[in-house]
Amino acid sequence: MTDLTLAGKSALVTGSTSGIGLGIATALAARGAQVMLNGLGSQHDIDAALAQVRAASASDAVFVAADMRVPGEIEALVQETVDNFGGIDILINNAGIQHVAPVQDFPIEKWNDILAINLSSAFHTIRSAVPHMLSAGGGRIINIASAHASVASPFKSAYVAAKHGMAGLTKTVALELAERNITVNAVSPGYVLTPLVENQIAATASARGISEDAVVSDVMLAAQPTKSFITIEQVAELVLFLASDAAASITGSILPIDGGWTAQ
Ligand code: NAD
Repeated sequence: MTDLTLAGKSALVTGSTSGIGLGIATALAARGAQVMLNGLGSQHDIDAALAQVRAASASDAVFVAADMRVPGEIEALVQETVDNFGGIDILINNAGIQHVAPVQDFPIEKWNDILAINLSSAFHTIRSAVPHMLSAGGGRIINIASAHASVASPFKSAYVAAKHGMAGLTKTVALELAERNITVNAVSPGYVLTPLVENQIAATASARGISEDAVVSDVMLAAQPTKSFITIEQVAELVLFLASDAAASITGSILPIDGGWTAQ
């Protein structure tokens, strides 16, 4: 069996103060990686995230605030990762936001923020991290996409556009780096019960004119044949596998973890 340890590896997880990113950061630390955290939130949220990741690991996790809408801050975040840990072996592009509204009412600033955070930030981390991975002789880039990277839902124009873009970015960079021992993949979860999803239940109820309970049962879980939410831990396990040596031949893949949603 291939050893799945990540001891001695360094990882950056964008948007890791909450939800899926925090779960991935915790899982990477538990496998032995040194982890750079990033994201928004109160000092209390950041301290809690750091405490959770440090409790999972023998090595210290570090937090650097960087707004994923600002290219200069993203470059600095990658450099801080390299400065702290001596390199960047694993890059997880996870930061993301959502906004639900009909396209004719979609606020321009929300469109711009979603494209910046959910898509362009990954371009900026990748272009900053790849030179370090090339000099180290390899690396792993894992983009957190979505079922919405391959199918659409109404009222999510910016999110669906950004996630489809993430699939294209993943495949393109995978081809560019295929002979350089750097794999590039995307993980595409269905609905995971995190703050991002909890916060869109009310907006979806209003956009569709239905109750919040109906959003959960008739919109979210109706899309997933398993009729249950994906868990953060399940997404993190898939990321751990992709980060391991065992996944060296998987690149350019958009891997669904969606309870059968996109099989329909
Ligand atoms: P979440 O709201 O719990 O976490 C989002 C993280 O991104 C937080 O740490 C937040 O601080 C950070 N973030 C937001 N804006 C930022 C900014 N400008 N700069 C830096 N960090 C910022 O959401 P989540 O559900 O854990 O989502 C994580 C990723 O998973 C997103 O890319 C999302 O699209 C994707 N995803 C989520 C689901 C789901 O059902 N929850 C499904 C598929 C894909």
